[in-house]
Amino acid sequence: ATIAPMLKVRGLEAWYGESHVLHGIDFDVAPGEVVTLLGRNGAGKTTTLKSIMGVIGKRKGSVVLEGAETINLPSRAIARLGIGYVPEERGIYASLSVEENLMLPPRVRPGGLSLEQIFTLFPNIKERLKSQGTKLSGGEQQMLAIGRILRTGAHFLLLDEPTEGLAPVIIDQIGATIRRLKQDGYTIILVEQNFRFAATVADRHYVVEQGRVIDMIENDQLDANIGKLHGYLGV
Ligand code: ATP
Repeated sequence: ATIAPMLKVRGLEAWYGESHVLHGIDFDVAPGEVVTLLGRNGAGKTTTLKSIMGVIGKRKGSVVLEGAETINLPSRAIARLGIGYVPEERGIYASLSVEENLMLPPRVRPGGLSLEQIFTLFPNIKERLKSQGTKLSGGEQQMLAIGRILRTGAHFLLLDEPTEGLAPVIIDQIGATIRRLKQDGYTIILVEQNFRFAATVADRHYVVEQGRVIDMIENDQLDANIGKLHGYLGV
């Protein structure tokens, strides 16, 4: 039997002003899956996440979340359905402490993690509670951004390049966190440039090119498709 998708995206198009950047994105995510969006710079990966989240002015097509069409919903209504977005810039407030950053986003659903549960996942955060958010290292800021979203009760996470600019040892920690979140039942879409990292966390990979999904590769087929993937990513 096929499992009903958590997310079903069909013919998704998006614009920045007059600039048409998504031309019909199609993909599915099953509950509890980790999938990545891979592709070159400017392919439309971030715009796909923003469109799902409803923070793009003009979009059309279909984005069905757990059976509900969301394409015309405002972003706060989409957030209330349990989607949490961690942008590439991480969105840590410079003038707030780590603790204040954690407490800021409202709870959207029951089941959000307590501060103690967040500290279990990210022990570094606890030691830095009174520090200013932007005094943290890049890795700590990424963990703060993820922890903050987990507190809201979101059970479907959109993570935009969480490893960007981080040292290998920190990337390993982020990878361990993503695997742990999968075990705990979270569903995750990860935007990645680093397919070596993507392979350590994901079930499947969608390849985005010029505003369309042009291929899907199962993680256990990645090695068999490495030549093709190098072509897609231009590496
Ligand atoms: P990257 O890794 O560079 O973020 P990406 O695959 O996530 O790549 P997007 O950021 O989704 O790509 O960008 C898709 C296209 O939209 C690109 O041509 C980009 O220049 C354009 N674009 C992105 N943001 C804006 C914006 N705020 N205004 C106008 N055009 C934009």
